[in-house]
Amino acid sequence: MVGTIGTIEVIAERVAAVQVRIAAAAARSGKDPASLTLIAVTKTLDAETVRAASLAGLREVGENKVQEAYAKRGELLDQPLLHWHLIGHLQRNKARRAASTFDTIHSVDSLELATALNEAASAQGRDLPVFAQVNISGESTKSGFIPRLFSQQAAALARLPALRWRGLMTIAPEGADTETLRAVFAATRRLRDAAAAVFPSTTWNALSMGMTNDFEIAIEEGATHVRVGRAIFGERTETVRA
Ligand SMILES: *Cc1c(COP(=O)(O)O)cnc(C)c1O
Repeated sequence: MVGTIGTIEVIAERVAAVQVRIAAAAARSGKDPASLTLIAVTKTLDAETVRAASLAGLREVGENKVQEAYAKRGELLDQPLLHWHLIGHLQRNKARRAASTFDTIHSVDSLELATALNEAASAQGRDLPVFAQVNISGESTKSGFIPRLFSQQAAALARLPALRWRGLMTIAPEGADTETLRAVFAATRRLRDAAAAVFPSTTWNALSMGMTNDFEIAIEEGATHVRVGRAIFGERTETVRA
């Protein structure tokens, strides 16, 4: 394990730098930085690097593939404080494995998938924290509920007893200008506010939005969970976008 100590230090320094930027963005928008959750996106990284992240103090990790996360989690049983978030597209036939692998699922993008996750979580006797993913920008390459239809579908989502709805998740268009990013994040916030009447549970208030390129704008527009990979771990050799 030569180099592990160095890796932990580098990760800790990068996380500290990201936390400073998070705190500044929170201050600009009058929010308590302690109310924001930093999810370190560890997709494509090996289990040793995730262990180093854990030893550097990170608790929340984000993965975009069920099988990859399942394998890593199995190698990291010695890091029980890690909280695993699924942030990538999930196929319905993997709902059961996803429900047993992840602590929180951010990418619930259809009523069919929500129904499958509800069944899986019920069978496992647990409440599963979930976010509904919305496709605000309308790009055909992105999955997610269509904003215009979300309010109609929300009532059916809210009735699934084993799902604990936290709020909305969105992915902003890649390479968009600041104004467009801000508009996408603000629209997500308004949709969350509009849906609050349907999800009376006190846990409905979260907004999972913002990545390395746009997390500060996302926080200014109300993000509660930011998903940051490259600013902590450097460029990925194999880039996978949900
Ligand atoms: C990869 C990914 C991220 C992190 O992206 P970075 O640019 O590395 O910060 C966040 N959210 C989702 C859904 C992703 O797929």
